[in-house]
Amino acid sequence: MHKLDKNQGFDAFCATAEQFATCMNDNLFVYDIINDAYFITESATERFSLPGPLFHNVTENLRDVVHPDDFAMLQADLQQLLNGEKMEHELRYRWLGKDGTPIWIVCKGRVLQNQEGKPWLMLGCINEIGQKQKADNVSGLLGASSLQERLKQLPVLPDGYVMRVGIDDFRMINERLGVDYGDAVLRQVAQCIERRLLPGQSVYRVISDEFLILDLVGGTPREIRGLYDKIRQEVERDIARRNYEAVYTISGGIVNIRDMEQADYEEIMRLSEFALGQAKRMGKNQVYLFEQEDYEAFLRSRAISRSLRKAVSSDFEGLDLYFQPLVYTQSEELYGAEALLRYRMPEGESISPAEFIPILEESGLILPVGKWIIRKAADMCRVCREKYPEFRVSINLSYIQLTKGPVFAEVMEALKETGLPPDALIMELTESGYLENSINVQKVWHRFKEAGIQIALDDFGTGYSNLQNIGRFNPDIVKIDRSFTLRALQHSYERQLLSHIINMVHSINLRIVIEGVEEKEEQQQVMLLGSDFIQGYYYSRPCSREEFLEKYLIKEVV
Ligand code: C2E
Ligand code: CA
Ligand code: CA
Repeated sequence: MHKLDKNQGFDAFCATAEQFATCMNDNLFVYDIINDAYFITESATERFSLPGPLFHNVTENLRDVVHPDDFAMLQADLQQLLNGEKMEHELRYRWLGKDGTPIWIVCKGRVLQNQEGKPWLMLGCINEIGQKQKADNVSGLLGASSLQERLKQLPVLPDGYVMRVGIDDFRMINERLGVDYGDAVLRQVAQCIERRLLPGQSVYRVISDEFLILDLVGGTPREIRGLYDKIRQEVERDIARRNYEAVYTISGGIVNIRDMEQADYEEIMRLSEFALGQAKRMGKNQVYLFEQEDYEAFLRSRAISRSLRKAVSSDFEGLDLYFQPLVYTQSEELYGAEALLRYRMPEGESISPAEFIPILEESGLILPVGKWIIRKAADMCRVCREKYPEFRVSINLSYIQLTKGPVFAEVMEALKETGLPPDALIMELTESGYLENSINVQKVWHRFKEAGIQIALDDFGTGYSNLQNIGRFNPDIVKIDRSFTLRALQHSYERQLLSHIINMVHSINLRIVIEGVEEKEEQQQVMLLGSDFIQGYYYSRPCSREEFLEKYLIKEVV
C-alpha cells in the first residue's frame, strides 16, 4: 500500500477528481478523515441537497443530504472506517435531491493511511442506482437519457418533427410468445426503423415498446408521414421474412417541432405520447399528425375524467339524477319518468351527458355510477308510487354495464330494497350495431325479461337494422328517436313509414314512446300517429328530484 505525504494530499486529490469528473457520470469525493473535511465534485452539488462542494464537520453536514432513515446505518459504517476496523466502504442508501426527493445511490470508497498507518483519506464515488440507461442493450439503440442530452446540446431546435413509434399490443406478444421473443421483436423493429432513417434523423428507445425519431431534416408533413409508411412496410417485410412467427403492427404519432412552445425534453415526450396515443385510439396500425385542437379536446376529456373519478370517490358529489316525465298520449296523464344523469364540475361548469357519458364508459366509472343511478331511480319510483301507484321509472343502461358489470344483481337488489314490483322498472338499451351481436348482452336481457322487468329499445330510427332488433330483444317498449319523429312530421313518406312501424309494433303488443316532442303542433300531429306515450320538452324538461316531486306530487308525499 502507498503511504502518501500528508501535505501533498487533499487539495491535489480534489483537483484531480474535478478533472476526471468532467468526463464521467460518477460523483467523485475525497474525505479527509484527519482534518474532517469533505470534497465532492460539482455535478453532485447540482443534484443533491449538499451544503457545497467542500465542507467540514463531515458527519453532521452529511445529515442534511442523507435520508433520515438511512443516517444511522451510514454513521455506523463510517465509524468503523474512522476506527481503522476496515478499509473499504460500500453502501447502498438514499440521498436527498435538491427538492428533497429521496434518490437511491451506491457509495463506494477506499481508505488510504498516512505515514503513521492511521486512516487518513477516503477516495470514492457516488452513483445513482436508478439512473436511466444511456443506451439500451435490448434494442441496440440509444435510450431516453441520450435523447435528453442531445436536446440539451441543441437549445433551439431547428425545424423538423418528432415521431413516436409504438408496437401495437406489445403486451400480447410478450404474453403469448414470451419475454425473450418480445425482446427480439423490439430489436427487429429498431432495425427496421434504423434502415429507413436518413442523415439528420436519429432514433432512441424511450420506453418499453416505444421509439422516438428526432427528424431535423425539416421536410414536409407528407415526407414525415412517408417515413412512417416506409417503416411500416419494412416491418411487414420483416414479419414475412420470418414466416409470420409473430404478426404485429406499429402506430406512429408525429409532432411538428414548430407546434411546440419549448420543444424541450418534457414537452417532446408529452406531446409525442399524446400523438401516439391518438393513433392507437384511432384504431392502431396508422399514423397521426398532431393538431392543437385534438390535444385540447384530449386534455379536457382527461380533466373531466379526473374530476369524475374524484366525484365517484366523494359520494358522487357533482353528479345528479334528473327526471323527465312520460305521459299517456291520449289522456296526457303521468305514466312515469326517465332518469337522466347530470354532471357539474367543481368549477361550476355543467357538462352535457353526450360528452361525459362516453368518458364514464371509457374509464369504467359507469359501473359505480350506474349502480348509484339504479338505486336512486328505484327510490324515486317508490316515492312517486305513493301518489301514482302505476308509476314507472326508466333507466338508461350502458353496454359496459351489460358486458362488464353485475347489473342484473344490482337491479334485483334495488327492487328488494324498495319493495317495488319488477315491472316498475324499465331498462333502456340503445341499439348500436355491434351490441346486438353480444351473447352476453342477450343473456342479461333474457334474465331481465324472465324476472318481469320491462325493457325498452331506445333511439329507434337512428341508423341500425332496427326491425331485426325488435325480434332479437323482444322489448316491451320501443322509443322513437326525435330525429325520426321530426323527419316523419316533415315528409309524408316517412310519416307513413313511422305509422306502419307503429301499427306493426302494436300488433305484437309492444308499446311506443315518441321522444323529443317540443311544440304544441308536434304534439298534435304525434297524437294522430297513435303512439302510447310522449316524452319531450313540450310537457317538461328533465328536472331535479325535488322539482319533479314539487310539480307532480302533493306536498304530504314529499
Ligand atoms: P336518451 O336516452 O335518448 O335521452 C333522451 C334525451 O333527449 C335527453 O338528453 C333529454 O334531455 C332529451 N330530450 C328530452 N325531450 C326533448 C325534447 O323535447 N327536445 C330535445 N331536443 N331533446 C329532448 P340528455 O339528458 O342530454 O341525455 C343524452 C343522452 O345521454 C341520453 O339520450 C342517454 O343516451 C345518455 N344518458 C343520459 N343519462 C344517462 C344515464 O343515466 N345512463 C346512461 N347510460 N346514459 C345516459
Ligand atoms: Ca333513453
Ligand atoms: Ca332516446
